[in-house]
Amino acid sequence: MNDVIDKTVLISGASSGIGEATVRELAGRGARLFIGARRTGRLEALAAELGANVAWHVLDVTDAASFAAFVDAAEARFGRVDVLINNAGVMPLSPLAALKQDEWTRMIDVNVHGVLNGIAAVLPRFIARKAGHVVNVASIAAHFVMPSAAVYCATKYAVWAITEGLRQEHDDIRTTIISPGVVATELGNDITDPAIASALTTWRQKSLTPDAIARAIRYALEQPDGVDINEVIVRPTAAG
Ligand code: NDP
Repeated sequence: MNDVIDKTVLISGASSGIGEATVRELAGRGARLFIGARRTGRLEALAAELGANVAWHVLDVTDAASFAAFVDAAEARFGRVDVLINNAGVMPLSPLAALKQDEWTRMIDVNVHGVLNGIAAVLPRFIARKAGHVVNVASIAAHFVMPSAAVYCATKYAVWAITEGLRQEHDDIRTTIISPGVVATELGNDITDPAIASALTTWRQKSLTPDAIARAIRYALEQPDGVDINEVIVRPTAAG
């Protein structure tokens, strides 16, 4: 296996958690990284820390024009786009009966439209070059429905289906679904239901650190062009 990843990799949601850990992991392997999120101060600090192979740009994944501008800027900075990691996500969990419709909309906008906007921004380029790799961060919530998580799980089932559809439609484009179990990050810090916020603290007692997911992403990227790692599920061993 090559130690150096000679690719330009775009990562959404790179300002914290799994995205930030993936930037660190891939920067250590020589990849050129173009990183996006809304909290640009964090991106700027990360890029300054990691050096010239890491560049940043503001990105709101819910806005198709913002995603298109992000990909254009990446191409202008590094000359090409090889990999898109759709990692940005939100998880304001609540039971359906709470009718938190604004939170449902936000989850669908970020977790589903965000992924579609990313695919739309890179797909014409990948088709033209007959090459490219889309990595979508789904979840174990793409495989079963958890309590008070109907809408979040629905968004992750959608990410799974979209990724599988992309795989079926293109022989030249690699697709990878990354499905983490519980990871200790900022995800869910915006949960407004006190009982669920407290339950999340309990779930996190058996959690991974984000670098575990970053290594799984690196593994998918390191494979030769003809090898397509279609899904990786990573759980804490203690989760059972
Ligand atoms: P974090 O909250 O630490 O990171 C989420 C990232 O998404 C942030 O960088 C945030 O950046 C970004 N983001 C949110 N909304 C937008 C937006 N509109 N536009 C651009 N970026 C946005 O959580 P994680 O690292 O845990 O989450 C990363 C992914 O992993 C998510 O898709 C999540 O669903 C998935 N996941 C996480 C698990 C966990 O247990 N932590 C388990 C399974 C899957 P900013 O606010 O600066 O825009």
